[in-house]
Amino acid sequence: PDVITVQELANRMAARAGEVVKALFRMGVMATITQSIDADTAELVATEFGHRVRRISESDVEQGLEGEADTEEALEPRPPVVTIMGHVDHGKTSLLDALRKTDVAGREAGGITQHIGAYMIQIPSGDRVTFIDTPGHEAFTSMRARGASVTDMVVLVVAADDGVMPQTIEAIRHARAAAVPMIVAVNKIDKQGVNLDRVRQELLQHEVVVESLGGDVQEIQVSATKGTNLDKLLEAIILQAEILDLKANPNRAAEGTVLESKLDKGRGPVATVLVQKGTLNQGDIVVAGAEWGRVRAIIDDMGIPLTGAEPSEPVEILGLSGVPGAGETFVAVEDETRAREITEFRQRKAREKVTAAAGAARGTLNDMLA
Ligand code: GDP
Ligand code: MG
Repeated sequence: PDVITVQELANRMAARAGEVVKALFRMGVMATITQSIDADTAELVATEFGHRVRRISESDVEQGLEGEADTEEALEPRPPVVTIMGHVDHGKTSLLDALRKTDVAGREAGGITQHIGAYMIQIPSGDRVTFIDTPGHEAFTSMRARGASVTDMVVLVVAADDGVMPQTIEAIRHARAAAVPMIVAVNKIDKQGVNLDRVRQELLQHEVVVESLGGDVQEIQVSATKGTNLDKLLEAIILQAEILDLKANPNRAAEGTVLESKLDKGRGPVATVLVQKGTLNQGDIVVAGAEWGRVRAIIDDMGIPLTGAEPSEPVEILGLSGVPGAGETFVAVEDETRAREITEFRQRKAREKVTAAAGAARGTLNDMLA
């Protein structure tokens, strides 16, 4: 298959496109500068121009990113990553705030609560849980579209006084599509005249069968504002996590997903990432999407600088060259050369997509004019 246009090859060799066309002609290949040629031909031309060729294929890059598979012995238990979803005003934010206050890790000293969209708490048993705040279901959708799976389970918040609403149904669909288990948190049970049976029946209509109706979905009645039964909800999460037997190898180069990112005036590009494999260390060279950089600082959700972050830890990282998109993967690589290779490859891919789209549009226009 053709892999590179004559123009692109010329650019990469810092040669004139016309010279490349001539070289191809001498080799018996008739190609214009916008045409694509195959890898073998491109390599021949490049060699003729005095370049040493090293091919990077998509599979090389992916291999580099996936790394070696972890052996069973290398795997260690990791905390669950939980996404809270539900209809607007059913109490997602209130619940996230309330759960955060149950953190017994005692990191508050000196820390300022950061709104980094994800945090990890430690519960009295010593277990830790990571919560992700999805700013709208669109973010979740776009992450899924990119193939990023970050969550181990979904806590579906349903207000007892309102029941199943359109975004509740949407959340159920998201959890199903992501193939992750759900825990139902029936919220606002402090309100007068709530009908729990009605909520259960409505859930049943969407094939969410809670335990009291003979199903296997845990249902916990909570009040986010009164702080009722938060311990029970956390217990349910830990139980679900035990069933899932969540593990990762902390002793390898870090890999994970970008949850969100922004350009900060003072600090430059800032990305909130979830470490999913390995340990991310300060000073690591990372590639995130089509950006790369040396990790200058790792900061936790309390604003405290860390030297490293392990699987299931959400942290902010500083030091990237630009702002990667939410849902992009990041990976720590051995050196800057490798980081450049991967990012150049990805940027080229992105450009090719744009060029192909533009080409297709031109084609259509030509067709219309013809
Ligand atoms: P979100 O849109 O799902 O994030 O919902 P919010 O957390 O912003 O809550 C919406 C409203 O419901 C706010 O006025 C909250 O104070 C209120 N609320 C949330 N949880 C409870 C609860 O447990 N009991 C009562 N009575 N009100 C609640
Ligand atoms: Mg909210």
